[in-house]
Amino acid sequence: MLLPPFTAAGSFFRGNLHTHSNVTDGALDPAEVCRRYKAEGYDFISLTDHFVGRWDYPITDTLPFRDDRFTTLLGAELHSGAQANGELWHLLAVGLPADFAPSNSPDFQPVAGQETGAEIAMRAREAGAFVAIAHPQWSGLTMEDARSITAAHAVEIYNHGAHSLSDRGTGMPMLELLLSEGRDLTLIATDDAHFKGPDAFGGWVMVKAAENDPEHLLAALKAGHFYASQGPEIHGIWLEDSQVRVACSAASIVVVQAHGNAAEMAVGDAMTDVRVELGRLSKSPWLRVTVIDRAGKRAWSNPVWPGTL
Ligand SMILES: [Zn+2]
Ligand SMILES: [Zn+2]
Repeated sequence: MLLPPFTAAGSFFRGNLHTHSNVTDGALDPAEVCRRYKAEGYDFISLTDHFVGRWDYPITDTLPFRDDRFTTLLGAELHSGAQANGELWHLLAVGLPADFAPSNSPDFQPVAGQETGAEIAMRAREAGAFVAIAHPQWSGLTMEDARSITAAHAVEIYNHGAHSLSDRGTGMPMLELLLSEGRDLTLIATDDAHFKGPDAFGGWVMVKAAENDPEHLLAALKAGHFYASQGPEIHGIWLEDSQVRVACSAASIVVVQAHGNAAEMAVGDAMTDVRVELGRLSKSPWLRVTVIDRAGKRAWSNPVWPGTL
């Protein structure tokens, strides 16, 4: 059985869901951020500047930079409420309305009486956004923190800026623990580019949608019709009786991960059509696939829940 998103109608569009400009603390103006992503072969981005009072709660206007082969989703990185470690929450909201109401978040320190992270995440979701828990490792999130964000669609499992500049780029352990608690979440790779260091063009999503426009892209994100990548492409994933079959760009390792420490893999040279025996993985409530190329770059499928297919 071919699995979503490969069964969905349309084409794959490449996008970066987390970026900053000089509207807040990025180095480049929004036009140049969009120009660079388009020039690097992206189909869309979301410019997610910091939604705090220091910069007057911006939802950065990227509409002037849309054209017939590049589009944008309005978005922001939301900040309100304290995490367990006392730091302010960072939550990604892609597909926000331009008039999303300000929070009470004057700057990057939590203040009394402001919305909790869970509350602002829910307000963003109810306003139509695709919501993700940003950079869990960089933030130092606890499981209790992560559990509280019931509005999340996704966890940022790779943040290229946090990886490159702080060596704290992963969110995968937290995602896997949430999956194993039964949370139905998807996974995204992003840049979080500020263009002050080597933080751009390293992690993205490939979204399968009928058209490269904000409405179709946002619906596809919410439906989980995408995979995340640092380079490799995934062309199809099939769940068969005792195997997972993966069609992909040339891979050196293809891994199927599942609950607990369960993982099975195929290892080879320039593999493009790979079968992995499930073995004890067939008992897991969820599975996911990672494709690793010769350079160590990864592509990650969204989790699959075989019992719901
Ligand atoms: Zn952040
Ligand atoms: Zn950010």
